[in-house]
Amino acid sequence: PQDDRISRIASSIRIIPNFPKPGIMFQDITTMLLDPKAFKDTIDLFVERYKGKDISVVAGVEARGFIFGPPIALAIGAKFVPMRKPGKLPGAVISEEYSLEYGTDKMEMHVGAVEAGERAIIIDDLIATGGTLSAALKLLERVGVQVVESACLIELPELKGRERLGDNPLFVLIKSA
Ligand code: AMP
Repeated sequence: PQDDRISRIASSIRIIPNFPKPGIMFQDITTMLLDPKAFKDTIDLFVERYKGKDISVVAGVEARGFIFGPPIALAIGAKFVPMRKPGKLPGAVISEEYSLEYGTDKMEMHVGAVEAGERAIIIDDLIATGGTLSAALKLLERVGVQVVESACLIELPELKGRERLGDNPLFVLIKSA
């Protein structure tokens, strides 16, 4: 039986059609943040899954991974590592290019933020084509970190982003059309 916390979370997420451009059904998690029970339940569901699993790194993808990653990291006793858009991190970085619908983008992580052999999870709000999460996965794997799982609130299964992560597991709370 589905955890009844999930239906409250799902109904607190607002869908805004045609944002940021025509044809996109934007899943707006900011309305969920306005409901403290739904927000707490979201964090708790991830914490229950990852607590006690020897995870030392929570990597959060800019921007909405920065909302969900830190409370999860604090609750499971892991460090939080921001994965950022290019030019935002001030120290030495490693970067990974990934393809978008039109063109490419880059994701960056600070050198020295993680060590080879650490166990990580990656957090974002939503997986669409999987380009973003697969870039984060590659960055961590390049420096010898074991990515235990990627985690999102929402998956858009029609876009088959899960396939782009290969053998790496993906955990989501909600699947949306
Ligand atoms: P992708 O790389 O295609 O998997 O896209 C995932 C990233 O884009 C995530 O950081 C999401 O926050 C954002 N994103 C893509 N599609 C949507 C959508 N329909 N609603 C909200 N955010 C989206």
